[in-house]
Amino acid sequence: MGEQLIDGNVLAAKALAKFGVLHMFGVVGIPVTSLATRAVSLGVRFFAFHNEQSAGYAASAYGYLTGRPGVLLTVSGPGCVHGLAGLSNAMANAWPVIMISGSCDQKDFGRGDFQELDQIEAVRPFSKLSVKAKDIREIPSCVAQVLDRAISGRPGGCYLDLPSDVLHQKVTESEAEKLLLEAEKERRREEIPRVQSSKIEEAVSLLKHAERPLIVFGKGAAYARAEGALRKLVESTGIPFLPTPMGKGLLPDSHELAATAARSLVIGKCDVALVVGARLNWLLHFGEPPKWSKDVKFILVDVSEEEIELRKPHLGLVGDAKEVLEIINREIKDDPFCLGKSHPWVEAISNKAKENVSKMEVQLAKEIVPFNFLTPMRIIRDAILAYGSPAPIVVSEGANTMDVGRSVLIQTEPRTRLDAGTWGTMGVGLGYCIAASVASPDRLVVAVEGDSGFGFSAIEVETLVRYQLPVVVIVFNNGGVYGGDRRSPEEVDGPFKDDPAPTSFVPNAGYHALIEAFGGKGYLVGTPQELKSALSETFSARKPAVINVIIDPYAGAESGRLQHKN
Ligand code: ADP
Repeated sequence: MGEQLIDGNVLAAKALAKFGVLHMFGVVGIPVTSLATRAVSLGVRFFAFHNEQSAGYAASAYGYLTGRPGVLLTVSGPGCVHGLAGLSNAMANAWPVIMISGSCDQKDFGRGDFQELDQIEAVRPFSKLSVKAKDIREIPSCVAQVLDRAISGRPGGCYLDLPSDVLHQKVTESEAEKLLLEAEKERRREEIPRVQSSKIEEAVSLLKHAERPLIVFGKGAAYARAEGALRKLVESTGIPFLPTPMGKGLLPDSHELAATAARSLVIGKCDVALVVGARLNWLLHFGEPPKWSKDVKFILVDVSEEEIELRKPHLGLVGDAKEVLEIINREIKDDPFCLGKSHPWVEAISNKAKENVSKMEVQLAKEIVPFNFLTPMRIIRDAILAYGSPAPIVVSEGANTMDVGRSVLIQTEPRTRLDAGTWGTMGVGLGYCIAASVASPDRLVVAVEGDSGFGFSAIEVETLVRYQLPVVVIVFNNGGVYGGDRRSPEEVDGPFKDDPAPTSFVPNAGYHALIEAFGGKGYLVGTPQELKSALSETFSARKPAVINVIIDPYAGAESGRLQHKN
């Protein structure tokens, strides 16, 4: 009897399992169904979605939260195109993902084959590396290459193309084992260059001699797990800090040196800013006046040399955030300095933050019904804080819902906030929730979403129920994108003027009923008491649930905080 043969699907599954993949996200179909089922049989957990877009968002958030490439599996042609949403989102956020797509038969390409597309060309703008296995024997090394490249240097997306004919080719078991071993031997991750010690000395000297120093950190520092080194730096020097939206929680928002509530002051007045794992892009006003002072000296810490070249800071430190901060801490230890609570800069920030917080608290304390954004957000904040540790992961999207949530919700632990991110991608919510519960199974996941953000992928509530994930989705339902019909009288004209406004959805939609259709728990709430009781029940049950919170359609602003861009 001859030796057992295995096909390309089995070999790809073996390679993924052997090279450490624990979880995959995707949608199966021709020609990759057996790749998924074989991977499962080899111990890889596969999360089957309804749409590749959501699965791709899940893979990208998984990459961020775990530091291992999120793996997205799609079918050919349209499946690959839907998956581009996740791949591009990963690239924009600098998160490691690999997208693996089946593709049409190589011999039939160009003749109108089933789901035919030049997928290598389609993924080009959205990937660091794209490879096609043109023969079954290339599969193991292609899998290894994309996995390694996704986490090398600046993390990002990589693509692997597996044509249908290659997936159906066969090799013997022993040849497969040999190919897997060879590919494993070749595995490598690019070395990150070690930062020069003269640059570290200069950075420390700049911080030490600054009158108004500031430490800014972002999701790159969170990805690098730099929280310990950051805490040491902040607490030994007494320098105030400002997290970006997803940097929130690396140090607790409640820390006495947190400058979040005095953001405009610290950005406008700091003279030296150490920016760690955060790009000086739109989220940080490009590091330019009028928001920043024109004389501010930036010290940028980033794993990407390209990023530093682009921003032209006063001083650039290329390297891993955690490692660079540890070296800075060692340098400071030899000649310590600390601003102290009575330093005028620290005192000014602390006073301004207290003033802003108490102004906000007055607004938050009001019990407004029908709900505005603040009343329910305060109730949610308090429920999350009361939940304790490990703190829930908060997933947030929407215009007003995300803006208000960012300033009201309090993050106390690293990597517990996921939002629309660098690209302002809406529709990420359900995918992120699924990824968060997979990446951190001990944590509750709480999504706080606008109804529009939720609607992009609302059907994935079935996925939550199917896998019984501990996710509570709170929908701020104001009946549309920005809520209500906000057209001015001159905009209401033409033959279709009686159609619903482009910004509006069916008012008071029963989103809670969606999850009930699949056996999950749904709640419709309109008062503080109803919301508190729904939160208390769902937080202790840790089962999939949707809380449909009816909001006044005219509360909040069009475009949220970014009105000047609409
Ligand atoms: P935020 O949205 O929080 O401002 P960005 O996504 O704009 O953050 O920036 C994150 C930056 O972190 C990117 O420029 C990326 O290259 C960088 N980065 C990623 N991983 C690391 C790491 N391990 N060490 C340092 N920087 C990193």
